[in-house]
Amino acid sequence: MQPAISISPLPTQAPRTDQAALIAHIKQMLVAQNAVLVAHYYTAPELQELADETGGYVSDSLDMARFGHEHAAKTLVVAGVRFMGETAKILNPEKRVLMIDSAATCSLDEDCPAAAFTAFCDAHPERTVVVYSNTSAAVKARADWVVTSSIAVKVVAHLHAQGKKILWAPDKHLGHYVQQVSGADMLIWDGSCIVHNEFKAKLLADMKAAHPEAGVLVHPESPAGVIELADVVGSTTALIKAAKELPNQTFIVATDNGIFHKMREAAPGKTFMEAPTGGVGATCKSCAHCPWMEMNNLNKLAQVLETGANEIHIDEAIRQKAVVSIQRMLDFAKTSQQTVLGMGNA
Ligand code: SF4
Repeated sequence: MQPAISISPLPTQAPRTDQAALIAHIKQMLVAQNAVLVAHYYTAPELQELADETGGYVSDSLDMARFGHEHAAKTLVVAGVRFMGETAKILNPEKRVLMIDSAATCSLDEDCPAAAFTAFCDAHPERTVVVYSNTSAAVKARADWVVTSSIAVKVVAHLHAQGKKILWAPDKHLGHYVQQVSGADMLIWDGSCIVHNEFKAKLLADMKAAHPEAGVLVHPESPAGVIELADVVGSTTALIKAAKELPNQTFIVATDNGIFHKMREAAPGKTFMEAPTGGVGATCKSCAHCPWMEMNNLNKLAQVLETGANEIHIDEAIRQKAVVSIQRMLDFAKTSQQTVLGMGNA
């Protein structure tokens, strides 16, 4: 039996060091191949700049997929992690979708294997299955709803008002946050993001006391104690907006530090500090940056365009089921006038 998802491998090549020549070469290939680059906020600044300069897009994962759907390009090149490429393919089956690095994954996706998740759902048939966007196509196919971090509370509150009980996966911190705000009965899968899970409430409280002028911006994939200290809790897009609109000149930010590039563009002159990770005296501290997002770079982008490697293929039966749970959210968003920007910290 064919695997549900398959990605063709990228041949190894030596890195090229002349960045200006490399960027010019990539720009030519994007045009020649009728391709557009869509990049996530957590990827390297040079990839975000290249996407912006070439008529591509920098955003969260669903918005990346929706942009690709509306764009005339025949090929979407995704700078991000695998579930983002899959989401792009689910919504754009007629297009070629290439990943810069096929091994770039996400701990939330990895924490929620489809077989175990299906068994969990089967054991709780009375519950409505709501999954976060940071999941595989197969997990989305098993869900009733896919949600973004910006619409999760609204969708769950809507289902709760209808008397429905929820089965939530995979992020436990976002799940507990949604449960607290919506008051819904939620059974929560035990997954977490390896970046956000490292932010420490006690250290953040100390930092806040040392910088009382700073606004605290927190993504809800962070632990509950960190969320409690936030001035704004929100998706990546919401946090960038808050950085621009709040009067503070300084911010402490609890999300992947790749977001600083867009925050500095949106709010030039303001100061952004990483929320603290690791314990006092810890010999090993998180760098507040996703190791899988870091796998995306210009050299690999050039190779992918040269070779056509890392194309995403999704079993059509799975894709057709997954698109239903995503479309349900999009339709809900339309009727409730709610933006779904912020798909995944994704
Ligand atoms: S930052 Fe966390 S949630 Fe985002 S892709 Fe990396 S591991 Fe996944």
